[in-house]
Amino acid sequence: MTNEFSQLNLHPELLRAAAELGFNKPTEVQTRVIPLMLEGKDVLAQSQTGSGKTAAFAFPVLENMINTNHQGSVNTLVLTPTRELAIQVADAIAQYSRHQKVEVMPVYGGQHYGTSRRRLKNGVDVIVGTPGRLQDLIRQRILDLSNVQTVILDEADEMLSMGFVDDVENILRETPAQRQTTLFSATLPKSIRQLADKYMNDPETVMIQRKQVTVDTVEQRYYLVNEKDKLAALTRLFEIEEIGATLVFTKTRVGSSRVANELIQRGFSAEALNGDLAQDARIRVLDRFRSGRIKVLVATDVAARGLDIDDISHVFNFDLPTDPELYVHRIGRTGRAGKDGIAISLVTPGDKRYLGRIGSFTKYQIPQAQFPTEKDVQERREIRLLAKMEVWLERDRCKREEEMAEYLVASGYDPLKVAAAAIKMARGEEKQRPIEKISEVRINRSSGKNSRRKQYSRNGKNRKRYPNSRGNGKSGASHEQGMVRLSLGRGRQHGINPGEIVGGIASRANIPGYGIGKITIFDKYTLLDVKEEYVSNVLNKTGSYHFHDQHNVDIKRASN
Ligand code: AMP
Repeated sequence: MTNEFSQLNLHPELLRAAAELGFNKPTEVQTRVIPLMLEGKDVLAQSQTGSGKTAAFAFPVLENMINTNHQGSVNTLVLTPTRELAIQVADAIAQYSRHQKVEVMPVYGGQHYGTSRRRLKNGVDVIVGTPGRLQDLIRQRILDLSNVQTVILDEADEMLSMGFVDDVENILRETPAQRQTTLFSATLPKSIRQLADKYMNDPETVMIQRKQVTVDTVEQRYYLVNEKDKLAALTRLFEIEEIGATLVFTKTRVGSSRVANELIQRGFSAEALNGDLAQDARIRVLDRFRSGRIKVLVATDVAARGLDIDDISHVFNFDLPTDPELYVHRIGRTGRAGKDGIAISLVTPGDKRYLGRIGSFTKYQIPQAQFPTEKDVQERREIRLLAKMEVWLERDRCKREEEMAEYLVASGYDPLKVAAAAIKMARGEEKQRPIEKISEVRINRSSGKNSRRKQYSRNGKNRKRYPNSRGNGKSGASHEQGMVRLSLGRGRQHGINPGEIVGGIASRANIPGYGIGKITIFDKYTLLDVKEEYVSNVLNKTGSYHFHDQHNVDIKRASN
């Protein structure tokens, strides 16, 4: 196995880009996939988010472009399940090709077709897109894939579980049969192997071993909470836990800034550590954290990479990671050097399935804990205040304050009352920190295992099970508990299909595919069930959904 980038037979311009990006050594997936792809082989790779898989496929693709005189027609197609990933991957490829003339374009629902058409006319080499929108562009003859040399299916298992299997197959059929195909997937279920059998040419399989982990010195627990109450939950836990240097993990950069700001407003010394920070700003934040000037660092996984701090008392998963390996990675930041650490996860009903995966991966079922009550928090505040007062009493350095107390006593006030009034004033700042309510989580059958079954039922062959009755103006059968029925202003006569609906809504409203349940397509409109917790996300984007060639589509509450 090669250990250095320079041994991977890559062009100096690519090595330069890797060095500038701080990639000193190739990751395992890069060491194994790059040589195979350079040989022109199809590769089926099982690897996780964060493994460096983007560079693993991008470097060989870019290497080939340097060596062959590519002429601006689409040479490489990357399929991703979500718009976020499409943008992230396109950004990464643009970074890796910084010393080449390569045009990279992300494609996802919601973009203007005119812009895509214009850019494609001017010449695009690499397209990174979601299946729904790619298919739209093909149908409208905006996108021509007949010169594609390499196709990458990224996070293929996610793509299939979002119901994109037909779209993926349709797109693959638009590309030349002699193309090179590489597939990345965190898991390799039968559906992925079938896809590989059908569309890949004798692929080499690369399995990246998950690192086995034990985190015996970390106490783990989780709290079940509704998404909207996560901040209230976090602050309540901060009040009760004896937190030292603490890491809070969020899923997104935006999330990390938001959580850090909210914590600051609630009186905690917090800062965000995310990819938006320039290198010197990052170093300053880390210095402040190490020296204890800030207690809480709110980070994304990517930003926390390489963070090497031993004395972390708590790791909070503000957003539970979907990948068990990331979970282990995160909580391994505490409990280091023989010290005990505490890892606390906020788990929404929709996250429960990931909790199950984490449990089977770590061979440890994380126990659930109950939130401290408002009374508990109140008591803890009092204990803390008394402890602080005792410190001052021990120090005996309140000369001026004693004189003031003497004055009040000499004026006839009872010393006990004087002390009580002083404590009351000292507690004034607590009013700035009201104990926020945490609403009860109602677990219904549509979360956890059942929603998973639903998600699968949207895939491939089972898709036919969706009722496709003729519209009669009524809203159809009543929805399941925990689901809310919404109405989408387009139907069969507009060429709409369930896969597009799931993909289009999930990416636009930024919700997981499994948040969408039963879909009933009528002639002029469609009814769909959406999990309660995601309804506001979906409704907030009404008027901006795009499906097939339909723009600015409304989604409203159904009127039954
Ligand atoms: P990916 O799995 O492609 O999303 O990559 C995860 C992160 O690892 C990205 O932030 C990359 O910039 C970074 N990365 C990829 N390859 C390397 C490498 N060889 N050395 C250090 N970081 C890397």
